[in-house]
Amino acid sequence: MSKYVFEPPRVVSVPVHGGGLFPVRRIFCIGRNYSAHVKEMGNDPKSSPPIFFGKPADAITPSGAKIPYPLHTRDLHYEAELVVALKSGGVHILQDDALGHVFGYAAGCDLTRRDLQREAKERGAPWMLAKGFDHSAPIGAIARIEDFTLADDARITLSLNGATRQDATLNEMIWSVPEIIESLAERFELKPGDLIYTGSPEGVGPLQIGDKVEITIGDMPALTFTMTELQ
Ligand code: MN
Repeated sequence: MSKYVFEPPRVVSVPVHGGGLFPVRRIFCIGRNYSAHVKEMGNDPKSSPPIFFGKPADAITPSGAKIPYPLHTRDLHYEAELVVALKSGGVHILQDDALGHVFGYAAGCDLTRRDLQREAKERGAPWMLAKGFDHSAPIGAIARIEDFTLADDARITLSLNGATRQDATLNEMIWSVPEIIESLAERFELKPGDLIYTGSPEGVGPLQIGDKVEITIGDMPALTFTMTELQ
């Protein structure tokens, strides 16, 4: 018989600003949530409910990482996003109660193999290859809601090698955080440890080896990462 050697299970977690770790259960993502980005992708923002997809929890990558340029793409894109971290969950959560389930917020990046996403859309195929690959979910330290006030008009920005490429305010989101939580909780039993990437504003674009990315949201801890050699 073959002898298999397994590594100990990896507990995926995200540092919490001020100390501690947030253990990650699942990663939910929302697509097409800023109208200008929806338009730049050729879609009508009012035409449909939120688009949901996911990433494996193992795709979490902490701030400051060197991320190898991923396999099987020639068009890797950044997408700056607000990430919501849940401390509790349930089903049929109403908007008015939704924020009571939030542990904190973080700056995140929904890395996307855009060429594979285009191909998936053409074929009516799932987005796993486009969205669910290794290191595809960089995230900054989580700011607890009791420590940080996230203003409705907080700015979300992405700079690439020092040049601003995305710059929007959170109130440009088509679906607000409470609406997203209510909508997700109609479809899943949400649980402590779940993360929600809430969609990206206009200005998404390609990354190259050597690029340095910084994502900021209001005065929360920034997310930084650098693209390195091919995986
Ligand atoms: Mn996205």
